[in-house]
Order: sequence, then C-alpha cells, then structure tokens
Amino acid sequence: MKVGILGAGQLAQMLAQAGQPLGMEFKFVSPDPTSCAAQYGELICKSYDDESAHQELMEWSDVITYEFENIPTDMVLKLEQANSLYPPSNALATAGDRIAEKTMFNSLGIETAQYEAINSAEDLHQALTVIGRPSILKTRSDGYDGKGQVVIKDNTDLAAAWDKLQGAPCILESMVNFDREVSIIAARKKNGEIAYYPLTENHHREGILRLSMCFHAEPLQNKAQDMVRKIAEHLDYVGIIALELFQAGNELLANEIAPRVHNSGHWTQNGTQASQFENHLRAICNIDLMQPCLLAPAAMVNLIGTLPNADDVAKHRNSVPHIYGKAEREGRKIGHINLTSKDTDLKVFKAELKSLLNLVNEFDLAAKF
Ligand code: AMP
Repeated sequence: MKVGILGAGQLAQMLAQAGQPLGMEFKFVSPDPTSCAAQYGELICKSYDDESAHQELMEWSDVITYEFENIPTDMVLKLEQANSLYPPSNALATAGDRIAEKTMFNSLGIETAQYEAINSAEDLHQALTVIGRPSILKTRSDGYDGKGQVVIKDNTDLAAAWDKLQGAPCILESMVNFDREVSIIAARKKNGEIAYYPLTENHHREGILRLSMCFHAEPLQNKAQDMVRKIAEHLDYVGIIALELFQAGNELLANEIAPRVHNSGHWTQNGTQASQFENHLRAICNIDLMQPCLLAPAAMVNLIGTLPNADDVAKHRNSVPHIYGKAEREGRKIGHINLTSKDTDLKVFKAELKSLLNLVNEFDLAAKF
C-alpha cells in the first residue's frame, strides 16, 4: 500500500514507523525541508495549497491521510473526491469548529459544558448573563495547545478579553469543575469494525499535554466507548479518532475530538500490542484492526523544548524514548518517553515515573507520585 500523508512532522513519522513493517510505503507533503518524517519516504517539499503537490500525491497514493487539522477544506475535498482520503472531510470540518462540534455532541445525547456562540463584544456581555463566571472564551477554530483562549474571571476586563482574540468568531464555555481530564481513542473501518483503546488520564500545563497514563481498566471505559462510537458512526468515520473528555465524579463531558492520531495515545506504542499508529493505517487501508489490550500499566511523558540527558533517561530501565529529530525550541514537542511496567511492581513503576517527571522539570506532576 502507498500511503500519502499531508504533513511530515512527528505524527507522520510515527505512522511511517508503524507502517513500514507492514510493507507500506510513504510520501509526505510539507513546506518544511527539515521535516522529521522525511527519512521514511519522499518529501514533496511544497506548500499545502500547491496544485502540483496535490497532483503528485494523488497520482502516487493508494490512500491519503493527514497529521494535522488546519488543512484548507477545498484541498481536502479535492483529494477526497479523487482518491480515498481518510478520516473523512466532514470529521475535519466538525472538529475545526467548536460550535459545530458541541452541537454534534449534544445532538447525539453527549453532554458538554454549557456554551454560546460569540460574534461580538455585545454577544459576550449577553452570554455571560447566562453562563456566568468563571468561563472560557475560545476561538471557534484554529486553537491548539491552549492558544486562542481567555479565562473570564470575576475581575477580567471583557473588552481586553475580546480584543485579545482579535474579533475572531468565538465560543463561550462554562468552566467545568472536573476531577481529571481523560481521553478515549478508537479506530474505525469503513465497514463499521471498531477497536477501542483504554481510557487515558491526561495532564496539561500551559495548555500543552505533559503526561498521559493508563494504569488499569477504568470503570468509565464503557461509557467513554459508547460516546466515541456514537460520534464515529455519525461521521461514518474511518481511521483513528480521539475524544477528549472532562470527568466529574462519574460523569463524562465531551470537550473536543481530534480526527487523527493523538498525543494522548503515544503510550500505545509500548503499552499495547497494536499502537494507535498501526490501527490508523489498518483502518484507512481497510485491513483488519488489532483489538488493543493494555499489556501493563503505561505512561507517556512529553519532551518539550529541550531533550534530557540520554544517559539519565537510560537509567530508567522501563523507559522507551522516542526522539523525533526536531531542533530544540521552547514549547516545541520534540520527543516523548513511554514507560511501561512489564515485569515490574507498580510501586517501582511509579517511582520511575516520578523520577522521569523530575528529569523533564515537571516538578508539580512528579509530586503527585
Ligand atoms: P481545549 O483547547 O479545548 O482542549 O482546552 C485546553 C485546556 O483548557 C483543556 O485541556 C482544559 O484543561 C482547559 N479547558 C478547556 N475548556 C474547559 C472548560 N470548559 N472547563 C474547564 N477547563 C477547560
């Protein structure tokens, strides 16, 4: 199978790493000549709206997928009509608009934070009388890693908050008082076959994911599976889908979907027998899915900005580093470390996790273990 990928960053890289043993070949499109996936296949080094890049990818590929969401819709539609492109464009469009996304969740009986569409400073004043403070004002589209968001507290100046988002169409959401953030990842094939990954607990700092972990089967697994299944069926989805959730007591509220392989699923490379990357490829290439099961408690620590000393990492004998080959830069995801506890006492595993978190300067998270 020849798989064309829009984007050539770490997600494309890890898809290719998973696909090569299955005999798959890869071609990528990215305007960045230093793209880290390029060692796994030819890089068409052109901008995403370059017609000749689309043509080359369409002619070469048996199937096309993407690793990021800000792809121009007309380009996706063109590729979708000409070749098999998965996940489908309707999923991309829905995930790209927080109002459409939450409307879909609610129409499927999936609960969310209370929300209102905001198009002006007057809308914001009006919506706050319904939703109250604290609440969160977010741009409807193009937000990632916590960007394009303002928390509206009791003392927040509304004019300044609105100005900060530069008049972009927005959503105002009630602030959910959650116990923890979790995500569920599923793979779905065209024929409706579906595989679920175990519910994963996620920890963010400054809007960026720092730690994901999955120690055991969770009591809310079935509830989360039901939610992601409804969404995937509604979208006639093909590929990996991630659903980010807020857990409050036994309730799960949907926050957002990602129509692609997701950072909170990187631990599946070492913690399950079939990673999210492999199952994404299986799904889009119409190959039987692997039903993932948790091999042992697992965790993933993101490496952001700078890499820790390799010898220090190696002292953690249950750790598996995944270094993307990207230049160090503040706030940039440049690798991750998966930790599994096969043959290890959970206490030892947690001590290793604590030590790894300290190594990457996540002291507050480390203090939890
Ligand atoms: P998002 O871009 O929607 O994923 O939001 C980034 C982060 O902001 C989330 O992971 C949460 O930690 C926090 N957040 C977003 N929306 C809400 C909400 N309605 N209530 C509480 N926290 C939120």
